[in-house]
Amino acid sequence: MDRANEMRFAVENTLGKLAKWLRILGFDTFYKPDLSAEKLMDMGPGRILLTRTARIRDVNTSPKLVFITSDNPFEQLREVIETLGIAPKDARPFSRCVRCNTMIREVDKDSIRKRVPDYIWETHDTFRSCSQCGRIYWPGSHTQRSRDIIKRLFK
Ligand SMILES: [Zn+2]
Repeated sequence: MDRANEMRFAVENTLGKLAKWLRILGFDTFYKPDLSAEKLMDMGPGRILLTRTARIRDVNTSPKLVFITSDNPFEQLREVIETLGIAPKDARPFSRCVRCNTMIREVDKDSIRKRVPDYIWETHDTFRSCSQCGRIYWPGSHTQRSRDIIKRLFK
């Protein structure tokens, strides 16, 4: 059983940075900034609801809820990881589009020639793209910073 597939989230609209980080880690994360926390509860079975709204916690009947207490996105992520016992092997870092939650896949370098800045195209060999929104990803300085943060997360 692939544990990463079990860990699907629905994230409250006040927790945008947390949602972004869960996507960076590769978890299927439903997040819509304009959706109220109440509506989020209807987002279907199978998703673990992440909320920091006490009244949502109190009316929720599903056991699949993590109540977030911190205001800091890094600490919020720690809360999720510790509460659910997520291990590094459960994560698939950089496998999912941060913007729209779709799995991204490697693309031919020549096919995205005009879609990234010249200097990026000239200095990188590996590119991946999101089939949903078209966003292009490449291993850049951002990724190194993200890797460092991920390392610290699981300590
Ligand atoms: Zn996308």
